[in-house]
Formats: sequence, structure tokens, C-alpha cells
Amino acid sequence: MKLKDIGEFGFIDRVKSETLVRTENVIKGIGDDCSVYRSTRDLVTLFTTDMLVEDIHFQLKATPPGKLGRKSIAVNLSDIAAMGGIPKEALISIAIPDRVPVEYLDAIYEGMKSMAREFDVNLLGGDTTSSISHLVINVALVGEAREQEVLYRSGAERDDIVFLTGPVGSAAAGLDLLLENRSFDGQEALLEAHRDPSPHVEAGRIIAAQGVAHSLIDVSDGLAGDLGHICAESKVGALIEEAKIPTTELFRAYCDHFELDAMHLMLHIGEDYVLLGSVPEKAAGKLEKALKAGGCAFFPIGKIVAEPGLRLLDREGSVREIKPSGWNHFL
Ligand code: ADP
Ligand code: MG
Repeated sequence: MKLKDIGEFGFIDRVKSETLVRTENVIKGIGDDCSVYRSTRDLVTLFTTDMLVEDIHFQLKATPPGKLGRKSIAVNLSDIAAMGGIPKEALISIAIPDRVPVEYLDAIYEGMKSMAREFDVNLLGGDTTSSISHLVINVALVGEAREQEVLYRSGAERDDIVFLTGPVGSAAAGLDLLLENRSFDGQEALLEAHRDPSPHVEAGRIIAAQGVAHSLIDVSDGLAGDLGHICAESKVGALIEEAKIPTTELFRAYCDHFELDAMHLMLHIGEDYVLLGSVPEKAAGKLEKALKAGGCAFFPIGKIVAEPGLRLLDREGSVREIKPSGWNHFL
């Protein structure tokens, strides 16, 4: 059997049984943005890890090392944000081919340290090895939350409002710019969305503290892929509205200029690292107010429905099925 027969998520499904030998303090093992286990009476530890691999996630020549360092921490911060937690301690492991100059590595670490400083995270250790082919960076991050406040992918309920905490699409456009070697007026902001995403840790904290949201995830595989995770884990479906999905003017101008399918980039490609969640309709106003008071955004984009699957109401008023697929390694 080949990995492409089962895909990234099929592989994770195969390995996830019999992984726990002590279950008493484990609240969530494999299957959410972070694992969750009880550490003190009312606090839980959130534990996550994410890897960036040269030529899969970034191209060395096209990537300023400081940005690479920042992103390696940011993608992990985003998973803590997706649970509503506070990031705390990180370990960094790196596999280095000998063609990579020490100055490039120094700059990666400057980037990591700047991102860690911004989010009050300690870098506590890691591991260093040589690599025959590619540069690989792995970060493991621990965070903390009150047990009652943690938000999972699995809590969405019928009639919930589906919301985003920021626009989607720009990171996919930034990646497209690099892959297609394009240039565009104002391209720097699109490149930045791809290279140097800002994790929505503050928004995650506010959502958790309000205690009204039913589910939360970060958008790391495209809106449809990640909404698909919420729906699968919650055993529901969703209907979202094209006209309500927030994007930037620059992103729309980019898609128009190069005649790209903007919906495809937003739904199936983007690693925008905004948060996507669901909240009962009667509490949506309260959540929106709290997010806005904290300098964050709230964009309602549709509803959770009982019937499984994802559907999109387009600008012409017709409804079509969309695949709950985002980035999936091996497919
Ligand atoms: P995210 O995109 O939020 O980082 P992933 O889609 O990478 O989440 O992972 C989904 C779940 O599968 C997570 O709970 C993660 O910890 C788990 N997981 C991913 N890869 C492995 C692996 N190789 N072994 C065990 N668990 C894994
Ligand atoms: Mg995630």
C-alpha cells in the first residue's frame, strides 16, 4: 500500500489506536490541534508539534531565514490559539544539510526568538542533527488553559453560526506568487501572509474566556479542509456563504489580475492561521463584541447544519457541495 492510497489523515487514523497506556489525565490524545492533559486541579497542559520541511513547506532560496524561524514558532502558536490556550514553553529540533551556512541558521534562530518573545514563550531546548538532503525544523510547544475553557473541534452543533477571526486567501496567493514566479503591485503583503503569519493567540484567549463558542480550529489547511475537520469531529455539516467570507482587497485584485479561482485558493489552499469556529446564534453578538473590544475581528460566514457535508451558497444564490479537502500530504 502506498501513502497516496490513504493520504495524511488516513495514515494518522491507522496509527492512532493503542497510543495511551495511562489514560487517567488525558483529556484529548490524537485528533485535535493540541493534545490536552490535566496538569493541576483546574489547569490543563496543551501540547502540540509542527514541522517545516525544505521543498515541502518552504524553498530555501525564496525564504528569508528570519521569516522561516518566525513561522516555525507561529504555526505552533496557532495550534495553541485554536484550543483557546496560552503558549508557554518550546523545544526546537533541526536537521541541517552541510550546504546551509551558519549565518542562515543564526538568522533562523533570531526569527524564532523574536516570535517567542512576542508571545512570551521560553525556548527550553531541542535537538540538532545533520541531514543528507533537506533542512527540517520541528518545534514542539506546550501551552496552558483552564480545563473548562478549552475549545475542541468536536463541539459544533446544528444552527451554530460559523465564524472566522480574519480574512482568508492571502497566504495562498503569496504561495502562488512564489511558485509561479509572478510579480504584482503590492505583492509584499501577500508574501508576508504566506511567510510570516500572525497567529491569533489573543483571539483564541478571548473566545475561550467568553465560554460561549462550541468549537474552534485554526485555518492551516484551507477553510474547507479545516471546516471539514470541525464537521467530521462534530458529526454535523455546514452551509457557508461566498459573499460573507472575508478576504482582502489585495487578494481579490491579485486573483482578478491573474484570472485565478479565488474561491479555490480560499477554500482549499490557504494557510492563513486565522481561527475558525462555531457559536450558538444567541451568543454570537456577545462573542463579536468581546473580540472587537480586544482588537480582534469576528466574521460570521454561515451556519452549522445537521446534514453532513459542506455546502457553499454562491453569489448567484445557488448552493453547491464543496469538498472538505485542504492541503493533504501524500495525495
Ligand atoms: P494541525 O494541522 O492542527 O497541526 P494535524 O492535521 O497535523 O493538526 O494533525 C491532526 C492530529 O493528528 C493531531 O492531533 C496530531 O497531533 C496528530 N498527528 C499527526 N501526525 C501524527 C503522527 N505521525 N503520529 C501521531 N499523531 C499524529
Ligand atoms: Mg491546527
